[in-house]
Amino acid sequence: MKAQLATTLVHAGRKKRYTQGAVNPVIQRASSLVFDTIADKKQATRNRYKGELFYGRRGTLTHFALQDLLCEMEGGAGCYLYPCGAAAVTNAILSFVASGDHVLMTGAAYEPTQDFCNHILKKMQIDTTYYDPMLGADIAQLVQPNTKVLFLESPSSLTMEVPDIPTIVKAVRAVNPEIVIMIDNTWGGGILFKALEHNIDISIQAGTKYLVGHSDAMIGTAVANARTWDQLREHSYLMGQMVDADTAYTTARGIRTLAVRLKQHHESSLKIARWLAQQPQVKAVYHPALPSCPGHEFFQRDFSAASGLFSFELHKRLSDQELACFMDNFELFTMAYSWGGFESLILCNQPEEIAKIRPGIERKLSGSLIRLHIGFEDCDELITDLQNAFARLA
Ligand SMILES: *Cc1c(COP(=O)(O)O)cnc(C)c1O
Repeated sequence: MKAQLATTLVHAGRKKRYTQGAVNPVIQRASSLVFDTIADKKQATRNRYKGELFYGRRGTLTHFALQDLLCEMEGGAGCYLYPCGAAAVTNAILSFVASGDHVLMTGAAYEPTQDFCNHILKKMQIDTTYYDPMLGADIAQLVQPNTKVLFLESPSSLTMEVPDIPTIVKAVRAVNPEIVIMIDNTWGGGILFKALEHNIDISIQAGTKYLVGHSDAMIGTAVANARTWDQLREHSYLMGQMVDADTAYTTARGIRTLAVRLKQHHESSLKIARWLAQQPQVKAVYHPALPSCPGHEFFQRDFSAASGLFSFELHKRLSDQELACFMDNFELFTMAYSWGGFESLILCNQPEEIAKIRPGIERKLSGSLIRLHIGFEDCDELITDLQNAFARLA
């Protein structure tokens, strides 16, 4: 029987070996793992990356439980764990490039991902070409003989465009099937968009967001297919990437409720997005489940639902004073980076700030961009909080 996703989220990664009679896996904190005999040590060395206890940096039972869970959830051959999402992104890229290589990066990528390309990859003589995520099959023209990685993110950070991933993947594979295709799949928690079923090699998440789900731990995850797993694992291992057992435990616990949390994020964020679309100060709402979001038709086709993060553009660019008046007085929305927890968050970016982190993209914003993460507060109270903010602008 092939388990449905909801069942997988509850049951995967709970072998008796991991739980030892409890419901949840044990928290096995360890650097040294002890061998009774030379033969045991030999056996552990041989199977050190196949779920056998070898040394803390290769993981303990707690890590194996989480890795099994993520592999089953995202349909991968293996899962590597990193101390944060940024480490997952950078180590996944580094695992497949060398000096003189070329990377195709979405121009609407999470800003630190772009910074990594512009500084670290550049220092290693690895070129990055930024592409407009809405370019579709034309991406084939950007593939070079030395292109080793195609990096996707969907929806885009801040501006939320949803690329036509099947078309992009097909076009790039047609030029060179060896190119490693990876995606920052954080927005959908690894379940709303099934990356590996779309011929993508590696699905990366800032588990910090929806996997942990409570804004209290940081982790990065990369689930790889059979073709890329060995190289991703061994390169990441040599880079000393790992996460502590307590965080691995916390992440697995978060995943048990991932599907029900995302259902509520979807429902509440859509309700608030629809309300925002009717406000006279709002020029456009960039929520993938609404037609006003670029790539909405691809979202409808490729995603099973939305999560809680979206943005909207105001008709005008707010002055510093207006911006402070709008942003500084919320009662329920709090201003903070990150997202994916149970609480609602708000951030603002001015159009010129967005333009600076949109290399290769012609489309420009004219108004201030507000990004919301909708948590589990009462929707009507969140709407009142937003309504009061618009009233302050008037
Ligand atoms: C937050 C985030 C990251 C980085 O994750 P950290 O755990 O903060 O390092 C990467 N990509 C996306 C899309 C993110 O939202």
